[in-house]
Amino acid sequence: MFCHTCGSLLIPESNPYGKWLKCPQGHLQPELKTSSETMILKNIDGSKRIEVLDSKNILAVHDHICQSCGYDKAELIEMSCNYSDEDNIFRMKCGKCGFVEQLDGKVK
Ligand SMILES: [Zn+2]
Ligand SMILES: [Zn+2]
Repeated sequence: MFCHTCGSLLIPESNPYGKWLKCPQGHLQPELKTSSETMILKNIDGSKRIEVLDSKNILAVHDHICQSCGYDKAELIEMSCNYSDEDNIFRMKCGKCGFVEQLDGKVK
């Protein structure tokens, strides 16, 4: 690797963000800028992913608008009825706040 500005042979350098090749004359290399930006983006993505896992129910995959907080994904909970002449009860549990709503069953 040679300096993009002066053509000098690059020497290894490192800082808390990682290692790269540096020009002995101090010229900035495009590779250094790219690698540090990538590192920052990776960190942002990582924290977002953790936040998502903490606040959302991974079972909440059904389209349902929560009446409590307005979140549009909910977990479907089916409750089997003991009575043979009644339909099962379906409930939607909000994937964000946990608010449970009973769905309108079939009117008999
Ligand atoms: Zn240089
Ligand atoms: Zn909710």
